[in-house]
Amino acid sequence: MSESEFIPFHRASIGQEEIDEVVATLRSGWLTTGPRTKRFEEEFAAYCGAPHALAVNSCTAGLHLALAALGVGPGDEVITSPMTFCSTVHVITHTGAKPVLADVGEDGNLDPESVAERITPRTRVILPVHLAGLPCRMEEIWALAERHGLRVVEDAAHAAGARIGSRRIGGDARSAAVAFSFYATKNMTTAEGGMVTTFDEGLEARMRVLCLHGISRDAWNRYTDKGSWYYEVLEPGFKYNLSDLQSAVGIHQLRKLEKFLAVRREYVAYYHERLGRLEEVEPPPGDLEGWHAWHLYILRLRLEKLTIGRGEFIEELRRRGVGASVHFIPVPMHPAFRSLAEEERNACPRAAALYERIVTLPLYPGLTRTQLERVAQAVEDVAREWRR
Ligand SMILES: *Cc1c(COP(=O)(O)O)cnc(C)c1O
Repeated sequence: MSESEFIPFHRASIGQEEIDEVVATLRSGWLTTGPRTKRFEEEFAAYCGAPHALAVNSCTAGLHLALAALGVGPGDEVITSPMTFCSTVHVITHTGAKPVLADVGEDGNLDPESVAERITPRTRVILPVHLAGLPCRMEEIWALAERHGLRVVEDAAHAAGARIGSRRIGGDARSAAVAFSFYATKNMTTAEGGMVTTFDEGLEARMRVLCLHGISRDAWNRYTDKGSWYYEVLEPGFKYNLSDLQSAVGIHQLRKLEKFLAVRREYVAYYHERLGRLEEVEPPPGDLEGWHAWHLYILRLRLEKLTIGRGEFIEELRRRGVGASVHFIPVPMHPAFRSLAEEERNACPRAAALYERIVTLPLYPGLTRTQLERVAQAVEDVAREWRR
């Protein structure tokens, strides 16, 4: 690889193990949900310390499934973060419930005090998002949920491998369900895919039925006289199952996750040390202990010390061969959510202010040490050139 080659924002780490497992799956004749998906679910549940894990074809599907299975619908409200991907809010809308936005705290995650202000008699669920893999202040969110009789569904798209205290995210019974993403850019991938963990046996059973067209798996057991061709559709369901082809990739990605996380932490240590010396930028919150999944390195600009804004900063990085991005454009800023933005109670001024100064730098195990140093050098050069 040439020294001057463009450093992409992300590149997945796929090894020979994943390739061999995919080929073996193709040769096995069983392509869709089957033995490999079952193994992937069991290994993911064990990794998180959850009794149940359900493989789905995206985190979006997992969040939708959890809300639908909880019976969230018209007349209900679900409180979530403005600093998230649009699908966190779409799934609430698709159930017929109303999304309500609470503002973020200094850490960029849902602020429990802002959540408390948004709770009404219609609130059913709190849906926190662990931005960048940094766990939300869950103790406070669980306490609020308990006090008001609400359920918690976590968007853990960034948080595979993160921990709260001694428990992994996805491994605490106080949340009804936790949804993970295995999209191509996430900490581990199946190209497209996701997983939902839960401690609630009834919820798991209902999610499994809804996940595959509302078909009951048990029906044929009750009608053995009809044989194995028989099934019953219990309600209009979704098509959200994960295929064995994808699980073949996921099984090996999961086994490598701890190794991936260790490299991420090592790279974060480098960024923290080197960029932490600059006056013009501020490293993201979070240390190098194992509780942060470090999915994203969201640098914060000190705009008062720079003569350029965030957009130009990213453009300057690109000119120096570095791909950067923004996580996220706050929900109320998208045309699709204009009506949300117009409601006074959804006002999120801290999210709006944070948005103006965030730049996500490349951070992934496939990055070489040389590339990592080039990214840091580019940030230093841009900061120096446009210093106020
Ligand atoms: C990626 C992402 C999702 C969606 O994940 P998919 O697997 O692509 O559906 C949801 N929430 C957040 C915060 C994400 O970053």
